[in-house]
This record gives sequence, structure tokens and C-alpha cells, in this order.
Amino acid sequence: MPFSALGLSPALVHAASQAGFTAPTPVQAEAIPAILAGSDVRGAAQTGSGKTAAFALPLLQQLQLSATGGPRRVRALVLVPTRELAAQVGEVLRSLGQHLQQPLKVAIVFGGVSINPQMMGLRGGADIVVATPGRLLDLVEHNALRLGAVAHLVLDEADRLLDLGFAEELQRVLALLPAQRQNLFFSATFPDAVQALANSLLRNPVRVEVPHTPGNEPAIEQRAIAVDASRRTQLLRHLIQEHGWSRVLVFVATQYAAEHVAEKLYKAGIFASPFHGGLSQGARNQVLQEFKDERWQVVVTTDLAARGIDIAQLPAVVNYDLPRSAVDYVHRIGRTGRAGESGMAVSFVTPEAQAHFRLIEKRQHLALPLEQLPGFEPTEAAPPPSATDPQGTGGIKGRRPSKKDKLRAAQAAAGDTGTGAPAGNGAAPAAGGNTLR
Ligand code: AMP
Repeated sequence: MPFSALGLSPALVHAASQAGFTAPTPVQAEAIPAILAGSDVRGAAQTGSGKTAAFALPLLQQLQLSATGGPRRVRALVLVPTRELAAQVGEVLRSLGQHLQQPLKVAIVFGGVSINPQMMGLRGGADIVVATPGRLLDLVEHNALRLGAVAHLVLDEADRLLDLGFAEELQRVLALLPAQRQNLFFSATFPDAVQALANSLLRNPVRVEVPHTPGNEPAIEQRAIAVDASRRTQLLRHLIQEHGWSRVLVFVATQYAAEHVAEKLYKAGIFASPFHGGLSQGARNQVLQEFKDERWQVVVTTDLAARGIDIAQLPAVVNYDLPRSAVDYVHRIGRTGRAGESGMAVSFVTPEAQAHFRLIEKRQHLALPLEQLPGFEPTEAAPPPSATDPQGTGGIKGRRPSKKDKLRAAQAAAGDTGTGAPAGNGAAPAAGGNTLR
């Protein structure tokens, strides 16, 4: 089905083709006609499914049609959880909207940077505001913008908005909006709290669900390689060379590890940069842009970059440290293999982290062979289960000890002769260690 069959104007069909989109993705094919018809939408779509354009294209069309020629008032509000996603979604709206006859003004606002330029940018109004909730409220309080004319609300990555503790700000924003409006609700997952929010917002929504079928699953080759913690940087260098990866996103557990691993790679002659929440917003934007522009070959990051970030043609993601939770695993590997491209996701599994990796596999219904590469065979032994982690899960997030676990731990502690160090403390942490707690 071509874009022109979805009810979009020729200008927006042209915009899609200029963006390199030849045919709509499944989420676009379902959501675009529903949004154009004015319905509320509840979208459950996996990462990289093309959901941004799925709401951006019909939103732009509706705003074109309802333009009055009077002073600009905010008619569409897109709420997102992070600064990076705000910048990304705003840019998609700007770039798809640039071919319209009457250009629409898109304002992008987020916290962590000075409010003044954003207030200046809002002078003369805006048609669309893409915002993180906290900064949006600050701007309203400063009288820099009003939300009384919002006719379309988009909640993007609603699960993440709640995860990051934006529930209260969200309610305050919702209270400022007119009751009569279109609501577009997108979330990767729908746990109870997200479902409750969706129920409170949406009226007879069209449900857009893109099932995980082999046809629309991104082509991500997943691998697990056994390696000692101390040899991971060498293994990383080996893989980069062997596969000739032009760009790699490497995930580590801590900000310190991001700095440390990037520095070691840089010293070894690989253009590597750290990216984490400890950097200023300006530095973060710069690293991301330079990575997109292929000026960095490797970016070493914390889970800050696990969600939302879209880097086209990213051939590989490496879990240098395993993620804490199985859900984070999915988000991390979803940075590669986007929009029908293929990608490789490699997890380094140290002896200490083997039990943790097995749990991630179990939760994700995976069964990956644990590879050993010649020259990188692990020599360390897996530590025995400890009193604090009797089942050797490595402390995977979300797993609470049962009563039995607590009893066993208490017994183990009572009988502890003091000879065995708890798992994870046996060796000096190399490059941040496998910090799985
Ligand atoms: P999103 O899920 O919105 O983050 O989009 C993921 C990636 O898919 C982005 O790089 C988009 O540019 C790309 N994309 C979106 N729609 C299409 C399409 N119809 N055809 C090809 N690529 C697309």
C-alpha cells in the first residue's frame, strides 16, 4: 500500500518520500487513517516501528486544514519523557512539515538547559509544542505559552513517562488542556498504571497493535559471548575489527565505566566517546549528533541511550555490561536493526554474570548459545551463590526474594563462617565491573 492511499495530502506524501519512506510501516498504515478521521488512538508498537511518523504526518495534515491565518496558538502538544526524544520527535515534525504550503512552527522544549532561549523561541506562538512535562509547566508558569487551544494531544512512550515519575506533572498538564481534543497514546508496554492512564484519557480509541511476527520483527542477530571481565575491551576491539563496524553503541553499567571504556578505546586508536547523564545537555546533544554524522565510531553509554534514540543504520549494539532488567535488554538491542535494516546485538557474559544472563534469556524466551571465541576463552570461575543472592540471579531488577529466599539467606548468613566473599566482591571491578545490582 502506498502512502497516497492513506488519505494524506500530496505535500505530505512527498514529504514521506523525501524522508526515504517508500511504503508505510504497519503502525503507519493503521494509525494514519484513524488519526486523520479524528479518532483517539491507543498504539502499542515496538521500538523502531515508525510510530513517530505515524502520528507526525496526520497531525501536520490536520493542523494545515485547521489553520486560521490568525495568531499562532498551540494546537498540538506532544509530551515525551526525555530531552533526547523531544529533540528527535521535534526534528521529525519539522522535517516532514517543511514542504507544506503554510509552514507550521514546531517548538521543542525540555529541561536541563536555560529556559530563556526557549521563552524567546515561543514569542509569536507555536503551532506544535514537543515537550517534557516539567519544563512545559515551567513555561506555562512564566506565561510563555498557553495550552487552552490544544486540539491534539500525543503521549509518546507513555510507559517511560510514568517510569520516570512524571505522573503528577502529567496530571497538572492535562488539567490545563481543553476537554474537547484528540488523544493519541503510544506506549511500548501496557502495565496496569499505563493502562489506567490510557483508560482515563481515551474515548473509543482505535487500537493499533503491531504484533511481534517474523515479518515485522527487526532483523537483529543476537549473540552471547563468554569472556572474562578483564578482557572485554580487547574483545570489543577484536569484534569491531573483525566485522568492520562503522558504528557501535556500547552499553555499560555506570557513568564511570562509560568514561573509562571510551578512554581505553580512544587510547587504542578507536574514535570512542562517552555518553551519559553526567554530561551537560550541550555535550550530550553534541555527542549524539556527531555519532549520527559518523564522526564517532563508538559511543559508550549507560541506559540513558537505551530508549527513544534513533540512529539510522547502526550496525551493532554491544552489552559490555549486561542490563539490569530483561526489559532494558530489549530496549538496548532495539537501537540496531531499525526500520527493516539488519543489525547485530552482542552480549558479553562474564562468568560472574552467567546466571543473570540466563534469567534475561528466560524472560525473553531466548536460548542463545554461549559462544567462546579463540583467544578470549574465560578463565575465571562463576562465583558460588551468595547469601544475598542465593539463586545467583545477579540481582535482576524486578525479582523480589520470596519468603523462602529470605529464609535461605538468613540460614546461610547464620551459618556463614566468613570464608567466602559475597558474589561480585571477589575481584576488583574492572571498568565498572558487571554492576548488576
Ligand atoms: P520510530 O519508530 O518512529 O523511532 O522510527 C524508527 C525509524 O524508522 C526512523 O529512522 C524512521 O526514519 C524510520 N521510518 C519511519 N517510517 C518509515 C517508513 N515508512 N519506511 C522506512 N523507514 C521508516
